[in-house]
Amino acid sequence: MQERGNLSINSENFLPIIKKWLYTDKDIFIRELVSNACDAVTKLQKLANMGEAELSADEAFAIHVILNQDEKTLQIIDNGIGMTADEVKKYINQIAFSGATDFLAKFQEKTEDDNEIIGHFGLGFYSAFMVADKVEIDTLSYRKDAAAAKWICEGGIDYEMADGTRTERGTAITLFLGEDGKEFLDEATLYAALTKYCAFMPVPIFVEIIKQETEEEKAAAQKASNTIHVSPEDAANLTKEGALEKLQEQQANETEEPKPLNDPSPLWLKQPKDCTDADYKAFYHKVFHDMNDPLFWIHLNMDYPFRLKGILYFPKLVEQMDVMDGEIKLYSNQVYIADNVKEVVPEFLLLLKGVLDCPDMPLNVSRSALQNDGYVEKMNAYITKKVADKLNQLFKNERQTYEGFWDDIGIFIKYGCMREEKLYDKVKDALLLKTTDDVYETIPEYLEKNKEKHENKIFFVTDENQQAQYIRLFQEQGLEAAILSSPVDKPFVSFLEYKNPGVKVQRIDADISDTLQEKESEETSEAKKQAAEFENNQMQDLFREAIGNDGLKVKTEVLKAEKVSAMILLSEESRRMMEMMEAYANNEEFKAMFAGIKPDETLVLNRSNRLVQALLSMAGKEEKKADATLLCQQLYDLALMSHRPLTSEEMTAFLDRSNLLLEKLANYEA
Ligand code: ADP
Repeated sequence: MQERGNLSINSENFLPIIKKWLYTDKDIFIRELVSNACDAVTKLQKLANMGEAELSADEAFAIHVILNQDEKTLQIIDNGIGMTADEVKKYINQIAFSGATDFLAKFQEKTEDDNEIIGHFGLGFYSAFMVADKVEIDTLSYRKDAAAAKWICEGGIDYEMADGTRTERGTAITLFLGEDGKEFLDEATLYAALTKYCAFMPVPIFVEIIKQETEEEKAAAQKASNTIHVSPEDAANLTKEGALEKLQEQQANETEEPKPLNDPSPLWLKQPKDCTDADYKAFYHKVFHDMNDPLFWIHLNMDYPFRLKGILYFPKLVEQMDVMDGEIKLYSNQVYIADNVKEVVPEFLLLLKGVLDCPDMPLNVSRSALQNDGYVEKMNAYITKKVADKLNQLFKNERQTYEGFWDDIGIFIKYGCMREEKLYDKVKDALLLKTTDDVYETIPEYLEKNKEKHENKIFFVTDENQQAQYIRLFQEQGLEAAILSSPVDKPFVSFLEYKNPGVKVQRIDADISDTLQEKESEETSEAKKQAAEFENNQMQDLFREAIGNDGLKVKTEVLKAEKVSAMILLSEESRRMMEMMEAYANNEEFKAMFAGIKPDETLVLNRSNRLVQALLSMAGKEEKKADATLLCQQLYDLALMSHRPLTSEEMTAFLDRSNLLLEKLANYEA
């Protein structure tokens, strides 16, 4: 039989278009062809189950991927259902062809990136022409009296059909790799594509590389197989018999059964009750190449009303920057689709690691359409619920373990709560604050514990080192502040206030809590008040002049801690405003709007501190002016340091002045 025909198409540039449009994801032809091969096997298994196909008792289904580097061919061979000549015409010339043209039509409408189809799914058989100049199908149907058929196409619109050569059931697709596909002649490139797309496909895949070895390579291989591979330490103790035994053992290993490249029954498809902790951990290490163990995981296993399987892992953060390193791999019936598809998984999940297999997800619609898809919505709701259930269960039943995880998972949960209110509603009672007392408390627990000292107020620190002085002050008075130091905490503070009306959340240096001040007696005399005001004004003038800042506000207070000389307070509102200005520093419009806004800072001097007392006694004395100025500048810088990092000029001035003060001290001694 020999027959020629042409693919009914209006335009001659069908295949060049495929190449052009799909250039970036060229390797997906691997997924398309190998998954077709898997489908061919699955279809046959189904037919056999229904009694419509006969299989031999020792049937071993497999897919062989054979790269012949000399001939520049790549073959994908399955022992699945196969096709008759008529089926080739129907499935390849019509169905596969119209599938590919449909796909292209969609692609050509593509105006913006967001119109993109996830992982170019649905291209099918014709994706072979992205890399091949010529494609051959040689196939033998499972049907009893079937004859083998061959189809050959050289990338134009013409194809040729002839008698096939296959004697065994199944299909062999041969790609004659062209200029566009030559990278796949490289073993490593081929393996990379196979492991990316096919690592969990349901039929065992075996790879074979054929290349003409040079005489030298042959000799080297021979030598390697006759050489015992032992460590230098072991070699020293090896006897002649031992060596022979070792060599035999090694050669036996070399001729062991070849191992498939893929894992045909991935862990996520098993029943959770059949999986051990060790299984989950091993799967995690293998798939995500993370040597650390995950903290915990959630096995998703849903069959109805839609199918969704997968495993979500909460990873251990090595550094805070890892936060952005999540990896959610999307599969459809064990076929890899893409990583981190933000249109289909709840955004907060993208900080986690995991696999999701969603066979019911429509993959041939654009990404933007997926965002509004009912299925995606239901799937998101289900995943969110599962995550919340797991967190609540840990919080309620294993509080201590949960607290141990908090430093790693807190960032994720806070981000998730802000992104997905449904998650917040479900986990709000399991949100923890780590405090300066090194304990973990829920918000109600913190508020309850501190209500005598400051009602409905949450104090926090953003940098434990920098704000150490305030923290000490707090601790001396039995107060505690929440540590909110990660990038996600900035918006989280506002979020907490929004969700807890009536509760004020403020940084530790926003004002001095009443508990930090000595109570002045109720009936402070008018004269005393006046004296205090005079002192305030005097100090304010002195500092304004010494620092050269006319707007500086100075207040004197009696604090309980004597060691603290001065502190800078910046109201919570003002600090947030400054942070916002910093964040938008590059936005001209914003800059103009807020031009001239200065931070509303107050320098608080502690009258119970000896240095401040000395400064007070120097005020107004002309002969002490120079020393008083130095003292003011130094006290101001010390206060500033606990409040924010010094700029380089401020730091230089501070160091110079510190040296000067030390010189004075040394002179005293001399
Ligand atoms: P899809 O797989 O999405 O249906 P394809 O273009 O990949 O589209 O393939 C078209 C059809 O060709 C398949 O539906 C199948 O019937 C047939 N086919 C492709 N590859 C094989 C194969 N290896 N064995 C048997 N049939 C195949």
